[in-house]
Amino acid sequence: MDWKEKYKIRLKFETELKEKFPNLYSGLGFHWRDGGMLGGVEIGEGWYNIIRLLSEKLEYFINKLTEEERPRAVQVKEKFAGLRFYMSAKTKEMSEAIREAEDRSYKVCEYCGAPGYESDYSWWMKTLCEKCHEERKNDQAKMHTTRGETWKLKSKGKRLR
Ligand SMILES: [Zn+2]
Repeated sequence: MDWKEKYKIRLKFETELKEKFPNLYSGLGFHWRDGGMLGGVEIGEGWYNIIRLLSEKLEYFINKLTEEERPRAVQVKEKFAGLRFYMSAKTKEMSEAIREAEDRSYKVCEYCGAPGYESDYSWWMKTLCEKCHEERKNDQAKMHTTRGETWKLKSKGKRLR
């Protein structure tokens, strides 16, 4: 899949989030200086369902608060192979729901949603399934070969060349 296709899928997902969870994602699409979200929802499609479930809970909690008290999502991204979900403020029940979703992300392939594990290929940690791990390995190997670089790529203890 090329980047244009990926971008379209992401825009569609962000639109869906804004429509279904208008309070939680009221900052989505605005500049971060206005308290909005920096960069939008920066994760792979495999985790979209985790976000849908979490958003449902968070929107419900937010709706219980008065309008002035209502926090919103400020950043959704991947870091060290796990989901990170940041809010402008959060209650205890929101924190618990977020922690649950973040923990879950370490067991789900970020690319396709299949059961995943930590993929330690190269310098960028990811949570992926076996198939996506192999694809990513091949893609990166191609990229490195094209560039003529001599990275010592680590993949499950094996060196590529
Ligand atoms: Zn996968």
